[in-house]
Amino acid sequence: MLETTVKQYKNYINGEWVSTKETFQSVNPADVNDVVGEFPSATSVEVNEAIDAASAAFPDWAKESPSKRAAVLNKAADILEQNADQLGEELTREEGKIISAGKGEIKRTAQTLRYYAVEGMSFTGETFPNDDPNMEVTTQKEPLGVVSVITPWNFPISIPARKIAPALMTGNTVIFKPSSDTPLIAYRLVEALHEAGIPKGVINFVTGRSSNIGDDIITHPAVRAVTFTGSTAAGEDIHQKASLTTRTQMELGGKNPLIVMEDADIDHAAQLAVNGGFSLTGQACTGTSRVIVMKSVAEAFQRALIEKTKALTIGNGLNESTKVGPLANQRQLKNVREYIEIGKQEGAALVYGGDQLTETKEYENGYFIQPAIFADVHPSMRIAQEEIFGPVIAILTVDSYEEAIQVANGVEYGLSAAIVTNDIKTANQFTKDIEAGTVKVNRTTTGNLINAPFGGLKKSSTSTFRESGRAGMEFFTQIKTVYVGY
Ligand code: NAD
Repeated sequence: MLETTVKQYKNYINGEWVSTKETFQSVNPADVNDVVGEFPSATSVEVNEAIDAASAAFPDWAKESPSKRAAVLNKAADILEQNADQLGEELTREEGKIISAGKGEIKRTAQTLRYYAVEGMSFTGETFPNDDPNMEVTTQKEPLGVVSVITPWNFPISIPARKIAPALMTGNTVIFKPSSDTPLIAYRLVEALHEAGIPKGVINFVTGRSSNIGDDIITHPAVRAVTFTGSTAAGEDIHQKASLTTRTQMELGGKNPLIVMEDADIDHAAQLAVNGGFSLTGQACTGTSRVIVMKSVAEAFQRALIEKTKALTIGNGLNESTKVGPLANQRQLKNVREYIEIGKQEGAALVYGGDQLTETKEYENGYFIQPAIFADVHPSMRIAQEEIFGPVIAILTVDSYEEAIQVANGVEYGLSAAIVTNDIKTANQFTKDIEAGTVKVNRTTTGNLINAPFGGLKKSSTSTFRESGRAGMEFFTQIKTVYVGY
């Protein structure tokens, strides 16, 4: 049932919930008539207020005991977990992913907060041996100051959490700007931190289009770091605008390959391609968008892939039986449809799907599309080079492992890559030859642990700092080397 009055939500600045005159709406991509909520259209005025609040709160928060910081994160995790079912539904309603993934993301967010609450307690510097028996040399890790967090819609609460939790735990204060497609679920994270008793100004939340918000969130001299996840184009723009004293961490796009060797279990390989390429409607940065398959097994692989794709139920993610939800917004639908046309014009063979679905009541008001499979794809084609960020798989056929690696590495991205093989030597060689920040053997290109580093090579990350795991805290700290003589 649709709500008749649209609920108004606020921004959070200096511990207060605040509104703006202009607002925008967040809508359900499975039914655009369903308005999820109305949110402030913040401008540089609100951003500057948030930066001032975060600057004022920093000295006390930096001095706060790690156990108090951990207590806030743990309490917020409790709140999210206690409401996981309702929040999972809100996430699905706002972003479109299937309900099991929506609820799973809420649980992962709570786990991330808890993980950093523990890991941050033992985030230490080093002690260096030296020749002076009366001197001790150590490093101290100190927070940077005010940190801007800018996030996309595809993991609208877990990506913010994997940035905000390590930033807060290491003593930084935060300005958080989520995607305008998913402000509600981002709001829920801030609300949980507020209810957990976070001191005023330590986290600040502003919503709105980046064009209205302006550049202060990146360029203001008090902002000591910008952590961003999103498209490569926006990441490059932000990275270039940031000053010398502002650290940047840009987690960007991918064109992730799955290599299928001759000895692969073909059924398993096709399942990995479906899971990696079509779950989350192909809208994962680590999604499988190219399958590079040995010629001798290409036909069998293609058959198995089509068969498994046909079996996927497409629909509203809130229905338990749905396997593929809608695309997240109008831009996504337009973009994916354009790439399907480009693929056809380039001479690739569309061997399955690719049609927008509109014919039934369930589909008429949403951004639904059939997953698409292209065969006869040449490595130089745009559909084999550019990030599509939708349920489109390009199959490229090769004659040898060497050619597979050449094709896999022949793109500007390097986020995630996988191989399907039972040969341990090939698997091991692959982990060395492939240009990707995440490398998998006999697993999907998607998915990563919260306690292991995550990031890309080439144009998939501009930063040397990794997210997730212990590495995720390094970005938010600077090192002092301390010499003490006795
Ligand atoms: P996007 O770049 O359009 O937007 C991401 C965020 O940045 C949003 O909050 C947006 O409002 C803001 N933004 C956009 N342009 C900006 C600018 N010039 N200055 C300041 N802020 C700006 O990306 P999206 O469509 O939300 O997300 C999809 C993209 O995210 C894909 O390219 C995907 O590969 C990438 N992604 C990467 C990872 C990763 O970890 N590498 C994870 C998830 C998504």
